Amino acid sequence: MADGSAASGTLGGSVASGTLEDAFGRLDDLAADAAAGRLALFLDFDGTLAPIVDRPGDARMSDELRGCLQALARRMPVAVVSGRDLDDVARRVALDGIAYAGSHGYCMRHADGREEEQGREFLGDLDAAERALHAAFDGAGDVVVERKRFAIAVHYRRSPVDPNLLERRVRACLSGVLSAPERLEMHGGKMIFEVRPRFDWHKGRAVMHLLACTGGRAPLFIGDDVTDEQAFRTLREEGPPGSVGIVVDHDDRPTWATLRLDDVAAVERFLVAFSARL
Ligand SMILES: [Mg+2]
Repeated sequence: MADGSAASGTLGGSVASGTLEDAFGRLDDLAADAAAGRLALFLDFDGTLAPIVDRPGDARMSDELRGCLQALARRMPVAVVSGRDLDDVARRVALDGIAYAGSHGYCMRHADGREEEQGREFLGDLDAAERALHAAFDGAGDVVVERKRFAIAVHYRRSPVDPNLLERRVRACLSGVLSAPERLEMHGGKMIFEVRPRFDWHKGRAVMHLLACTGGRAPLFIGDDVTDEQAFRTLREEGPPGSVGIVVDHDDRPTWATLRLDDVAAVERFLVAFSARL
């Protein structure tokens, strides 16, 4: 998990993942729904399709899983929804005929190639913040500022600086350069701060948006991280009947999902078995 705090703020109604039924117990029912044209498949990338690795640039999904997704995409709508930039995740999955959502859903590419973007009005704020953060941290050693299209990551994995002090410095940078600093917000994670627009758009909104193009299907969403909880919660609260969230977790964390799978290997076994039933 990148950030336990984001999930803990919205726990009412969630349950411990360890108490959830394993998704393999529902495999036949879900495959029957998919075969009847009632499901669309939505998948996170890191920690779901590809194992988490030390360097995000090294994340890869297996060729067997790629072949499985390709087969699934011939039978049902498939989308990959990631915190990575759109082109980055699309390059790693490398399949045509499926939809992609990058930047936690801000950037979407439909299966027919049509692209949409939410939150463009925040790009100027992010540009100003990026300049200030580079000025503050470049050359200071060990703190790396990485601009993504709709976020700025401040990595401090190798920095000896106290994270609390670093957080104050990042906040001071933002308030010093932005006329309305509240338009951006900071999210903590594993050895990273991420500055993102304060905007009610997230993976759950992207799933519902892409779902609207699938002709009344219900979403089956599989994800592992706290940003995926926004999708699980959206499906519970706003999804059509038959919506299913599967959390990839073996740590008994609180979740809005309704089923679970243990790890990336279990996701692959599940999707291969699911595909074989269609
Ligand atoms: Mg993930």
